[in-house]
Amino acid sequence: MSRQYDYDLITIGGGSGGIATANRAGSYGARGLVIESDEVLGGTCVNRGCVPKKVMWYAGVMAHSLRDAEGYGFDVTVNDFDWHALVGKRQQYISNINNAYAEYLGRNNVEILGGRARLLDRHTVEVKGQRYSAERIVLAPGGTPRVPDIPGKEHAVTSDGFFEFTYQPRRVLVLGAGYIAVELTGMMNAMGTEVTLAIRHDAFLRDFDLLLQERLMEEMVGDGVDIQTYFTAAALERTGDLIHAIGEDGERLEDYDAVIFAIGRSPATAELGLEAVGVELDERGYITVDKYQETSVSGIYAIGDVTGQAELTPVAIAAGRRLADRLYDHQAGRHLDYGLIPTVVFSHPPLATVGMTEAQARERYGEAVRCYEVNFTAMYNSFTEHKTKTAMKLIVMGDDEKVIGIHMIGLAADEMLQGFAVAMRMGATKRDFDDTIAIHPTSSEELVTLR
Ligand code: FAD
Ligand code: NDP
Repeated sequence: MSRQYDYDLITIGGGSGGIATANRAGSYGARGLVIESDEVLGGTCVNRGCVPKKVMWYAGVMAHSLRDAEGYGFDVTVNDFDWHALVGKRQQYISNINNAYAEYLGRNNVEILGGRARLLDRHTVEVKGQRYSAERIVLAPGGTPRVPDIPGKEHAVTSDGFFEFTYQPRRVLVLGAGYIAVELTGMMNAMGTEVTLAIRHDAFLRDFDLLLQERLMEEMVGDGVDIQTYFTAAALERTGDLIHAIGEDGERLEDYDAVIFAIGRSPATAELGLEAVGVELDERGYITVDKYQETSVSGIYAIGDVTGQAELTPVAIAAGRRLADRLYDHQAGRHLDYGLIPTVVFSHPPLATVGMTEAQARERYGEAVRCYEVNFTAMYNSFTEHKTKTAMKLIVMGDDEKVIGIHMIGLAADEMLQGFAVAMRMGATKRDFDDTIAIHPTSSEELVTLR
């Protein structure tokens, strides 16, 4: 390892990707430094993303279980739901993760520096006026929630603000149509907040298979969510404690305690010094990388959300670990294959997807595509008054019916997909699915008994 520099590897950003890269490189003996501008480690996922989100999602699931309990003979009276207490526990849980991250880095001999980093040249970073040099630099600064430039935008919050709610809002308007919009809407609705979800078109999650879009819409409407279609906010107004949204066509959605923008995220590239060093961005503002995560500047790499590929924690982690394997463990050619990334939306009920949607498959392979679909009510719901439907679609291609897409929505869909994604990655065919003995009684068995 080079002694010409202070470190072998400096990582800018102590989130999912940065920490994973530094730990893996450190485990191979690289002298590493992680620079993080937040007060704590963990980045978006741990502090204002996946982790607090999943805690709140579980609370929503719990609320639904309490609703369903009567069907199984329980006489349950729910007296109260203490959002404030839940948030307190959630934050303690997160604080434990923050500490554990610092400990892991320490075990791998990675140093941690607090402060905002800026590139000075391809080997030098500046933090609070001090310079630090390294043979290689990894950029992992993640992203920030987008806010539309409309009058009154200051009256709304983003997902970051949602995680700062210490008391349960009574009535909330969510603007947006992606992962975050449907997740926040679903969990708040389940916990008893009155939620309006306003979307610009007649559907949300428009990049997902139509089956999932339609089924989730039915479920959310059935669960009491007020969904306003063809609404694009042109302005927000506040009177007293209440916020109102005015649509482009003049329509008004009124009297909300909170309005949440969930309209996508932007890469955190500002003030990183990229221009000065010559790190190129694409037309959307994300850092351009080759398949080895290397930017346009040799020795500077970028991983995670800032590269605008699949903005998911395991993707950032996998890209970082593979990069460290290649650079510090002589695993030549090792890189992340961005194809076939499984993903779950923690809606109520959850949905899971991997591979092509039916529309993508038909556009690409035409007549060679065949879809198998099943719709059913899970056994759990045989006794509950509120029924949640489950739907699954297997998309196959060619004479050997290679599986090229799996889409499902329903209870436990979030826990079902991982193993099927392994099979798909290995090139499974419909016949392989059929030849696998079902596990009974489950919902997942439906995927290996499709006709
Ligand atoms: P981040 O985790 O954002 O880390 C970047 C870090 O860099 C931050 O801590 C930031 O403070 C720091 N930083 C930025 N600039 C500088 C600088 N100049 N100097 C020093 N430090 C800097 N993904 C999933 O897979 N599953 C989920 O369930 C899921 N849920 C989500 C829910 C929400 C509400 C949100 C917003 C995201 C969710 N995600 C989820 C996405 C996931 O959080 C991101 O994909 C992941 O955090 C990206 O990791 P990263 O390392 O690229 O960036
Ligand atoms: P997404 O990219 O998922 O969705 C944003 C959507 O909002 C757009 O697709 C668009 O849909 C709509 N939109 C865009 N601009 C506006 C506007 N001005 N007004 C109203 N609606 C608008 O972004 P999110 O913010 O939901 O999430 C960011 C990323 O974080 C996700 O893509 C995902 O990668 C990650 N994430 C992952 C999670 C998970 O793994 N479970 C959970 C949460 C986030 P349309 O064109 O239909 O209007």
